[in-house]
Amino acid sequence: MNYRHAYHAGNHADVLKHVVLARVIEHMKKKAKPFRVFDAHAGIGLYDLAGIEAGKTGEWEGGIGRLAEPFPPEIEALLAPYRAVIAGLNPGGGLRFYPGSPELALRLMREEDRLIANELHPEDAVALERHLIRDPRADVTSMDAETCLKAKLPPPERRGVVLIDPPYEARNEAEKTVRMLAHALRRFAKGVYLLWYPLKADATAENILASVKAMGVPATLRVELRVREAFAAGGLAGSGLAILNTPWTMEEDMRLLLPALAGRLGLGEWGQGTVEWIVPPV
Ligand code: SAM
Repeated sequence: MNYRHAYHAGNHADVLKHVVLARVIEHMKKKAKPFRVFDAHAGIGLYDLAGIEAGKTGEWEGGIGRLAEPFPPEIEALLAPYRAVIAGLNPGGGLRFYPGSPELALRLMREEDRLIANELHPEDAVALERHLIRDPRADVTSMDAETCLKAKLPPPERRGVVLIDPPYEARNEAEKTVRMLAHALRRFAKGVYLLWYPLKADATAENILASVKAMGVPATLRVELRVREAFAAGGLAGSGLAILNTPWTMEEDMRLLLPALAGRLGLGEWGQGTVEWIVPPV
């Protein structure tokens, strides 16, 4: 396991994933009934953008670093929960600390909601446990994500959000990710699933999307943020999320947000936001 999220925290892919996760959690809060968030690849929870790792890549500068200027009010209204979490982590103003997905989720969740944050990397799992130990709503596990979802789904609340956010560093990771999603759906068909995938100069995204489509879950939405041309030499040209059992307000929110994010984060003409039903709602 070579991947460490500290090098990538706050990049364009994090911005997309976290803005979407925040919107989904806001939607879940519209009902009084508690819910559970499953973060199957959780990372360490909190990132120091002035730290050595973030400084080495500077990736956050092309992500959250570009959101300093406000957007028009209708966009800011949708970004407000995400922005509020970041502001809460940087009480003196400025931008030094950036939330990972478990931190973002916890800061948006209510007292009665629960989080399972799972991280396989032994050092990162210890850092995550240390970070979340004082929050009684959070349970940290350190297993393979597939094993974790098999063990923990379905949630006792019968309402939940599952984030599947692997690093795609192993050759068979896309297949494994799709298999994990299929197993999870069998255990918890009604969950809202967010599956992150990279946009590169290969067929990873296409293959994942074809498999997700074949699962045939109504209201499966594809949300993609492309920021630059894809080069065979590697690197992320953007990323996407397949959202299964998409909450009903999400499509409209995403159709407003994605062009704005693409305009801000994309390099010149390359910025492109896509929102499309993979399987439409019934
Ligand atoms: N979700 C995090 C966030 O948004 O802040 C970022 C997660 S990062 C993209 C992927 C994480 O998955 C890394 O921290 C990595 O150590 C972890 N990981 C890699 N393989 C895993 C596996 N098989 N099971 C669980 N975690 C894994």
